[in-house]
Amino acid sequence: MTRSVPDETRTRVLELRDLIREADYRYYVLDDPTLTDTQYDELYRELVALEGEWPELHDPESPTQRVPGVVAEGFEPFEHPSPMVSLDNVTDEEQFRDWVGSGDRYLRSEDERRYSVEPKIDGIGLELIYEEGVLVTASTRGDGLVGENVTANARTIRSIPQRLRGDDVPAWIAIRGECYCRKEDFFAFNRAAEEAGERTFANPRNFVGGSLRMLDSRIPASRPIRYFAYALGGVRGASFDNQDAILEAFRSYGLPTIPEARIVDGVDAVATRYAELVEARDDVPYEMDGVVVKVDDLALQERMGMRTRSPVWAVAWKFPAQRALTRLNDVDWSVGRTGVVTPRAILEPVFLAGVTVQHATLHNLDELERLQLQIGDEVEIERAGDVIPKVLRALPEQRSGDERDIVVPDRCPACDTELHRDEGKVALRCGNFACPAQITGHLAHFASRGALDIRGLGEKQVTQLLREGLIKDAADLFHLEEDALAGLERWGPKSAQNLLAQLDAARTRPLDRFLVGLGIREVGERGAKILARAFGTLDGVRAATKEELLELDEVGEALADSVLEWFGEERNEAMLERMAQGGVAPAAVAAPSGGAFEGLTLVLTGKLEELSRDEAKRLVEAQGGRAASSVSKRTDLVVAGPGAGSKLKKAEELEIEVIDEAEFLRRAGR
Ligand SMILES: [Zn+2]
Repeated sequence: MTRSVPDETRTRVLELRDLIREADYRYYVLDDPTLTDTQYDELYRELVALEGEWPELHDPESPTQRVPGVVAEGFEPFEHPSPMVSLDNVTDEEQFRDWVGSGDRYLRSEDERRYSVEPKIDGIGLELIYEEGVLVTASTRGDGLVGENVTANARTIRSIPQRLRGDDVPAWIAIRGECYCRKEDFFAFNRAAEEAGERTFANPRNFVGGSLRMLDSRIPASRPIRYFAYALGGVRGASFDNQDAILEAFRSYGLPTIPEARIVDGVDAVATRYAELVEARDDVPYEMDGVVVKVDDLALQERMGMRTRSPVWAVAWKFPAQRALTRLNDVDWSVGRTGVVTPRAILEPVFLAGVTVQHATLHNLDELERLQLQIGDEVEIERAGDVIPKVLRALPEQRSGDERDIVVPDRCPACDTELHRDEGKVALRCGNFACPAQITGHLAHFASRGALDIRGLGEKQVTQLLREGLIKDAADLFHLEEDALAGLERWGPKSAQNLLAQLDAARTRPLDRFLVGLGIREVGERGAKILARAFGTLDGVRAATKEELLELDEVGEALADSVLEWFGEERNEAMLERMAQGGVAPAAVAAPSGGAFEGLTLVLTGKLEELSRDEAKRLVEAQGGRAASSVSKRTDLVVAGPGAGSKLKKAEELEIEVIDEAEFLRRAGR
């Protein structure tokens, strides 16, 4: 069982870890990537594979170990080494100059009028503690004295180094900064969530805050959250004279700092920098809601000291709000690809932050309920950056009595199918696969690269084929005839033949890609792979029972129900039937063959000592088997470690073979 790792493997693993750490640093900290996403993914996958194959090389600091395999039960309170203070606010230049004046008596010379001016990022404060350069805790601000220990989630943020760079790191340091999400990442996330009928977030700050408080670290790991360091919470084994030196040190440790931060001399220079940042507000990639002005010199900060809850030496100078009042004229409802029906506010046009605003997002039903809007209401709207404006609140005190309630549709505005609201989800949904409003998006998705990859069939072509009546749904694609296609405007024999050839190749794409293409909700790329591998064929997936689905690792209630519902839908069955008649036969996805566990279903239970749970699962898969989460009569083998409980008992009842970890490793050829 003990084997020695070949030198070249060990060297390669160390090299891959270095390459990935360096790439993360270039990408997230320097904002100057050196690898393409594909190159990065290749390196990452190679490392995961080697570490799976050679558990001996396990290292908790490996870039692959940022996401733990376990779900936390809660967050421990964490007492900050010194209070995480909040700042007093000023809203205009006069107030700002008053703040400056109030500090005059502490000055020993005019040279001390030097300030650090940093954008105030609208995110969530996070304190990082490093001991001997190694990240030991990350905690939220909480009430300023005691926050929550969210270390596991913070480790998933790739702009936060697990280990500080350089040889000259302090013995202990508390670093404070902000977790945030870039605007474009935030919109992309919300768009995808909306498509999938998942909850969307009102702003990047809520998004980041919610993510940091997830008990399952895989969730924040999959979200585009970043970090900026901007303040020192305490240090041993180093000393700094001013804020400038602190930020410089942070950068040398490999921590990202806010690129727009500047050190300026004199009060006028602060006002100038403030005006520049107001101007740049829409162009920087993250939401700024003001600037933080700090006295640069730490000795002067010391002399100025603290009020009860806020420092005298720093202030937040807020940006003017980009808000306006207008009237809500109506609410309309649109249907997305997956059938999610979304409300949108139609507003009396109003000029706001450089553009005329006529529409605002209302997100979903929960948001509508929260806002308690009525049509005809005076509403306050806000526009931040190039964001779609949103409705902040209604002004019910302005009502005349002529307002009317917003009617939430109970039927699809496009196809009149009865709408439903999934349990636990905020989305209102049209479940009709044949809904005309969904079909265009559906077909484009079916043909997209992650699904059947039918080149030459984009949204434009889909719209044309639908309009000309050549297709009504995805099944019709496989009954298209050359003559009909060639006769279309801007087509010809050549493009018709090309599309038919593409369709021909699509008929036998692997089952998982086909499942992605069907657009069954909850079934993304990963879910489709799991289903395809577990059941092998389309008929296998079709015949799966809820019990069988839930037995699969990583398959929960929502996915299982969604699959059953989709295949239970008569028109979906009919469509699959017509696809089959059109020659569609998705290729079975076979588990790697020839492995020690080929075709077997294994359940792992109890504590494993040699391997982590994830490593053991990967080993099962690499050897052609399937790791299931519960024991049933379809289980072939149970691997039980110390502490195994009910699963072991069930296995014994069902007379299923039980082996220990050593035997498992032996059979796997380790
Ligand atoms: Zn519909």
